[in-house]
Amino acid sequence: MSLPERQTDVGPPHFEKFLPPVIKENYGKWKSHEVLTPGTMVHTAESGDQIHTVRIASPRILATETIREMCDLAEKYCGGFIRFTTRNNVEFLVSDKAQMDPLVAELKEKGYMVGGIGPGISNVIHTQGWVHCHGACTDASGIVKAMMDEFHEYFTTKTLPNKVRLAVACCVNMCGAVHVSDIAVVAVHRKVPAIDDENVGKMCEIPTVIGSCPTSAIRPNPKDKTVTINEEKCMYCGNCFTVCPPINIHNPEHDGVAIVVGGKIGSLRTSPKFSKLAIPFLHNEPPRWPKVVDAIKNILDVYAANARKHERVGEWIERIGWEDFFKLTGIEFTFQHIDDFTFMRDTLRTSAAFKY
Ligand code: SF4
Ligand code: SF4
Repeated sequence: MSLPERQTDVGPPHFEKFLPPVIKENYGKWKSHEVLTPGTMVHTAESGDQIHTVRIASPRILATETIREMCDLAEKYCGGFIRFTTRNNVEFLVSDKAQMDPLVAELKEKGYMVGGIGPGISNVIHTQGWVHCHGACTDASGIVKAMMDEFHEYFTTKTLPNKVRLAVACCVNMCGAVHVSDIAVVAVHRKVPAIDDENVGKMCEIPTVIGSCPTSAIRPNPKDKTVTINEEKCMYCGNCFTVCPPINIHNPEHDGVAIVVGGKIGSLRTSPKFSKLAIPFLHNEPPRWPKVVDAIKNILDVYAANARKHERVGEWIERIGWEDFFKLTGIEFTFQHIDDFTFMRDTLRTSAAFKY
């Protein structure tokens, strides 16, 4: 199969330019793959050609030195072919099998964690957090560092019933794949934004502010050249703050995180699933977030002890029922678990897959 011709003057270069020759030669004709160790796997083509993958976890915030070191290792062992997966695992694509063991040895010697393939955890996808994004209700890289310090053996050596995808998003915009991860942290604001009336008129376009609110909670207040918020309708999403900084959503005392479980992207055995609420709120506790780490460890341990082989977290919960999930994990069921959102009917009906 030949690769499609494509010419464009916008967007990234065509991915074909960056494929290892063995992948180009066998494009569309890959037959099987086998996990060799928690950090290595081999793909075999119909022609018998093979390509080996070595996966490492990426540190949370990457220094240019680290990226250069990774690229140097890729140049040395696999022709410079390296890629970052959507969950920011770093993968070296090794065409010459003889280079695999020396690459793994040097990665370990340099302190990289080799793993993340097969029934365990992979790199934790996360968002920007306090380091960068204006809307963040928590730190993202800090939580992930604390999580990985606790769970790293599930990346390198220990196994679980199936793969467990972890994610952290620092607000409900969820730039990370929280909605389709087995166990995920999503940060939440919990208070209606405070309006600095004097500056709204000076700094913001009122129609844009009103249009930004997904629940139509914002009304103009022409008399004072500002806006008002209907508190009953506000769901603390922070959209208005994004377009109008004088409507401040941040509240250090009340911002924190929720934990959701049971999401997955794959359609193997069961349909893709969206994550559902497990723990409505935990306070931010930088720099190590002990309650968040303990809560995830508890869910992970109970899943590991009770799920059948190959069951993802969501599949396990659906088999035993949510009532037993709350009993086994000891998580309290609260009124926040009841979906009474205005658009509940739509969310209950939603599935990432459909049937004719
Ligand atoms: S999840 Fe929200 S706060 Fe975090 S990076 Fe994305 S938009 Fe910003
Ligand atoms: S936080 Fe979200 S729901 Fe609340 S007023 Fe702002 S845009 Fe509307």
